[in-house]
Amino acid sequence: MTEKIIPLADLRYLNKIPVIPARLEAPTGLLADTRARPLHDLRISITDRCNFRCVYCMPKEVFDKDYAFLPQSSLLSFEEITRITSLFVAHGVEKIRLTGGEPLLRKNVEKLIAMLSALRTPDGRELDLTLTTNGSLLARKAQALKDAGLKRVTVSLDALDDKVFKQMNDVDFAVSDVLEGIEAAHRVGLGPIKINMVVKGGMNDQEIVPMARHFKGSPYILRFIEYMDVGASNGWKMDEVIPSSEVIRRINAEMPLEAIAPNYVSETAGRWRYVDGGGEIGAISSVTQAFCSDCSRARLSTEGKLYTCLFATGGHDLRALMRGGNTDEEISTAIAHIWRARTDRYSELRTANTDGLQSERKVEMSYIGG
Ligand code: SAM
Ligand code: SF4
Ligand code: SF4
Repeated sequence: MTEKIIPLADLRYLNKIPVIPARLEAPTGLLADTRARPLHDLRISITDRCNFRCVYCMPKEVFDKDYAFLPQSSLLSFEEITRITSLFVAHGVEKIRLTGGEPLLRKNVEKLIAMLSALRTPDGRELDLTLTTNGSLLARKAQALKDAGLKRVTVSLDALDDKVFKQMNDVDFAVSDVLEGIEAAHRVGLGPIKINMVVKGGMNDQEIVPMARHFKGSPYILRFIEYMDVGASNGWKMDEVIPSSEVIRRINAEMPLEAIAPNYVSETAGRWRYVDGGGEIGAISSVTQAFCSDCSRARLSTEGKLYTCLFATGGHDLRALMRGGNTDEEISTAIAHIWRARTDRYSELRTANTDGLQSERKVEMSYIGG
């Protein structure tokens, strides 16, 4: 029998209600934290639920039928999400990614997308509005998502071999259904589509080269992600991490690659292209090569807490401010103060201590959003 890990305290309820500074300020779009990092991206988890039980994210032993997912009343409403997002946009955020849990499980997600896609940057531009999904509901929803104003999707797919994929998602979901979702998204114009593969050593690393072969020459950009020590339930061990350098070495041995320059400063993926013109792949070295120095991402949890790092142990409760009747100006000033005080650099510290800083208590990826 697998031993069940019971958290000592539920980190989701660790609350910091932001202090509203006495002097209110108008957003300038030029916020910078203690390490001069701007605020450019916002990831929003719109549900903590998922129809998969990926072993590295929501292991069945923890996320079982007794697991206390958030009640509906705790979730931010679409109006609350849109209001908070507009404040972040005024502070300089241009890129919004909806995530989860599985974001397509949130009822009427198209409605939220339509509300968010109506927002504009202070100089009148559209936002880069994207979504990360496991692809299970994509074939059904792609057209409605596109019609609502979604620009692109990123789809997670960890193997091409059904047996391996089912071991990873742990709910018997077939590869062909995800591939169908990817094609549907491509057909309706939700591209360029990125495909994310989390590589867990000893589980799906034999799929690295077949995945590369399959997507070479396709319209899709395959990205390999190092298995991370996120959350407190996946039993992460450093020796299950396959470094990106090894992923590239294995692909390069069969299909020669050359490195290409990043698209922008805070891009997390190292970019490579096939020498024969077969397209591009990415490698996200979240464990072996920390990219904290350029990290411009904020995260909003399902119940409206602001996290300034994926590995933070506590969030700032913006929902409490909204539901407590604070004005936009007050909340916006509070956000500015939180970002200016930001010091996070977990991955850099982990690089110096490859045990994954296990003593730290961290929130789950499904709650905070990947
Ligand atoms: N359910 C959606 C999905 O799987 O695409 C969106 C949420 S999921 C938390 C976002 C991304 O985080 C996915 O690409 C997933 O593979 C990745 N992820 C989850 N746990 C991870 C871990 N321990 N290490 C690396 N990536 C992880
Ligand atoms: Fe669900 Fe995505 Fe986590 Fe897999 S990675 S369990 S699909 S939230
Ligand atoms: Fe950003 Fe935190 Fe990840 Fe570093 S560890 S890149 S600060 S989210």
